[in-house]
Amino acid sequence: MYQDIDMRVAPAVAGQPDTLLKAEAARAAGVDTDRVKALKIVRRSIDARQRKVVVNVRVRLYLDTLPDSTAIAEPIVYRPVAPDAREAIVVGAGPAGLFAALRLIELGIRPVVLERGKDVDARRRDMAR
Ligand SMILES: Cc1cc2nc3c(=O)[nH]c(=O)nc-3n(C[C@H](O)[C@H](O)[C@H](O)COP(=O)(O)OP(=O)(O)OC[C@H]3O[C@@H](n4cnc5c(N)ncnc54)[C@H](O)[C@@H]3O)c2cc1C
Repeated sequence: MYQDIDMRVAPAVAGQPDTLLKAEAARAAGVDTDRVKALKIVRRSIDARQRKVVVNVRVRLYLDTLPDSTAIAEPIVYRPVAPDAREAIVVGAGPAGLFAALRLIELGIRPVVLERGKDVDARRRDMAR
């Protein structure tokens, strides 16, 4: 049995799924932490629009019994592509560009990511700040 919980938590909580996030999710679900046998992060995004950064997170709590092993996926391990792999140019290192680059690596293609960065004036202001 599992229960999905949507929460807005501090980055420090989101970064500790086995301890702080688990405790917070159990509290939000109104269950004792001991009942949580496994936790899976279904969705996570950072909301940095305000000074106080928060993380929106959907957590799946497996209560009382462990889920079968297929329910909690192993993290993807990215291996180096072959030295003679084909190359693809990705323009921009935003979320879309980085996702494209990771997908290319999964397909055995070498991504070359081009990022223009900010112009000199904007970088000077950033540095000063
Ligand atoms: C002020 C603001 C606050 C936001 N806050 C949040 C938030 O708190 N949480 C959230 O989830 N989303 C937030 N968003 C939305 C989020 O930034 C976008 O949804 C996301 O960045 C889009 O990703 P993208 O990869 O499509 O584009 P971008 O992130 O814009 O990435 C495009 C990249 O391509 C580069 N580029 C463009 N042209 C060239 C070129 N010719 N050559 C080389 N490089 C190039 C750019 O420099 C840039 O780095 C915010 C957006 C704004 C504007």
